[in-house]
Amino acid sequence: MSSTSTNTLSQAFRSFAQEGGFRLTGDGKVYGASRRYPFEAALITRGQGVVCFFVRVDGVLSTDALTALRGKLDQGWTVGIAARGNYTLTYNAAKNKGGAHDLARALDAMTAALAADKVPIPDVCPICQKKHCDALAKVQDMGFGPVHRACVRNAAKDLRPAAKAGSVPTGWIGAVLGALVGALPSVVTTILMGRIFLLAYALIPLLAFQGYKLLRGKIDHRAPLTATAVTSLAGLFLLQLFFAAWSQGTALSPALYGTVFGPADVLKSLLLWLFGLWMAWGQLSRTSGYAAESFTSTLDTMTTPDGKPLQSGHQKD
Ligand SMILES: [Zn+2]
Repeated sequence: MSSTSTNTLSQAFRSFAQEGGFRLTGDGKVYGASRRYPFEAALITRGQGVVCFFVRVDGVLSTDALTALRGKLDQGWTVGIAARGNYTLTYNAAKNKGGAHDLARALDAMTAALAADKVPIPDVCPICQKKHCDALAKVQDMGFGPVHRACVRNAAKDLRPAAKAGSVPTGWIGAVLGALVGALPSVVTTILMGRIFLLAYALIPLLAFQGYKLLRGKIDHRAPLTATAVTSLAGLFLLQLFFAAWSQGTALSPALYGTVFGPADVLKSLLLWLFGLWMAWGQLSRTSGYAAESFTSTLDTMTTPDGKPLQSGHQKD
């Protein structure tokens, strides 16, 4: 009976990171590279444990090489393709009865097969889309792969001063103007066709948010959404008042509102308004492509191109 077979997969995982000189993060993931192929590894401690590697490539392994690789791996190991350019190498400890958890050997066999088959190493930075990367890091949604140190640092740096620099009053003015522009198409359809298209209600919060950004409103967690919600809701109400007055051929009057719009109409317009607000919120959390917090965590995963931790991760060049 082997003493190393059970409940030591997490030890094997940790010593794999230490012996390889790879980065082990606080959330229990390992980031590194083998033969310059970037990989990330995660340990799932459920049952006897599972280790999953994601290996980034810029091509495909031939069928013969894949078959040969599978023959070389121990019991419990499987190779698969997660997505284009992403191989998975999964180890299920329960299926390797009594065997040692040799994580390094399996990863080595995988990247040896990739190198022998001349599968290119990925080299396009997801931030600037250019080649000649000088580091590896995990960028939101993209997995762990090649980046430029300057791109990651600039992204993390640029987003924070911008958040402080904006102004709440000009943002509100922008949101009011944006909400008016967002209501304009519905004013036109009211006059020309005597109706408002439901989907057009979603435009009001969307454009209010654009206006807020355009006039350099302060970007934090609350101000843009508050300004967008308040101005677009007011814009929606004014638009409906205008519609009521136009369809009845009278002057603007809040008393008309209830006679033209029933509860179902109000509910439908509010749902579309919420939809627009939700889309604006999605844009907010992706300002400049990525959220500031995600770049801070990107810095935490940054390594050299051969997968060794960068000591200066949080410092300037
Ligand atoms: Zn770049």
